[in-house]
Amino acid sequence: MKFVGAHVSIAGGVQNAPINAAAINAKAFALFTKNQRQWEAKPYEPAQIEAFRFECDRLGFAADHILPHGSYLMNLGAPEEESLARSRSALIDEMERCAALGLTALNFHPGSHKNVVSPEECIARISESVNVALDRTRDVTAVIENTAGQGSNLGFRFEHLAAIIDRVEDKTRVGVCLDTCHLFASGYDLRDQAAYERTTGEFDRIVGFKYLRGVHLNDAKAPLDSKLDRHESIGKGTIGIEAFRLIMNDPRMDDVPLILETIDESIWDKEIKALYSLQAR
Ligand SMILES: [Zn+2]
Ligand SMILES: [Zn+2]
Repeated sequence: MKFVGAHVSIAGGVQNAPINAAAINAKAFALFTKNQRQWEAKPYEPAQIEAFRFECDRLGFAADHILPHGSYLMNLGAPEEESLARSRSALIDEMERCAALGLTALNFHPGSHKNVVSPEECIARISESVNVALDRTRDVTAVIENTAGQGSNLGFRFEHLAAIIDRVEDKTRVGVCLDTCHLFASGYDLRDQAAYERTTGEFDRIVGFKYLRGVHLNDAKAPLDSKLDRHESIGKGTIGIEAFRLIMNDPRMDDVPLILETIDESIWDKEIKALYSLQAR
């Protein structure tokens, strides 16, 4: 079964996320655990946690189909010790917030070497960041997202994701999230069946579908291998609708949250409906 949703707003409090998701007929959702542009946030009020859990129960969202997204401020592979320490504290705080909400995973971008340290050193730092955070928290899986390869961000090759996972001590609490726009921007084609099989086959060989904990469904504005992270509405971009038809009919994509991060949130309900209509009966 497919669980399609979108990255919904937490304006007014986290408890509004499941309400916003239900309003667009989502079966899954993503959310920020706090204002993603600020380092600090006060802990949730007990009443807020209770309201979030109540709304998830009432509206039928299971924890496995909710994939919170970490702050963009974190650089878990930062070359500077101060920035690295700050990012690690932020990751621990976000994982604790997830646990408080009863959620089981946190999705984040791996990190950036800033052309100061080597990619290998950056990857070692990212793995260590994950190890530190897993050691300090419980029950929440660290979900690493593939990236477009913009700037000096790592995670744009399946080999990067595999190398990060390789150095994570507790393999039961690490996973990956594949973003279709980022895949395409980093040179992994999905536009027809042959390309889709090649890309997903390579992912399975190098990383493994057993690590897949979520997918971000985004069309792209930029061409293949552009290294540009520019999302577009489904079917309106350079990837095209066929890739999404293939995903919606791929049993390896069952039971994980499939999350829209497309640019026009006013059509998310229509995009969700359109995605389900691509399924063969
Ligand atoms: Zn992301
Ligand atoms: Zn994404």
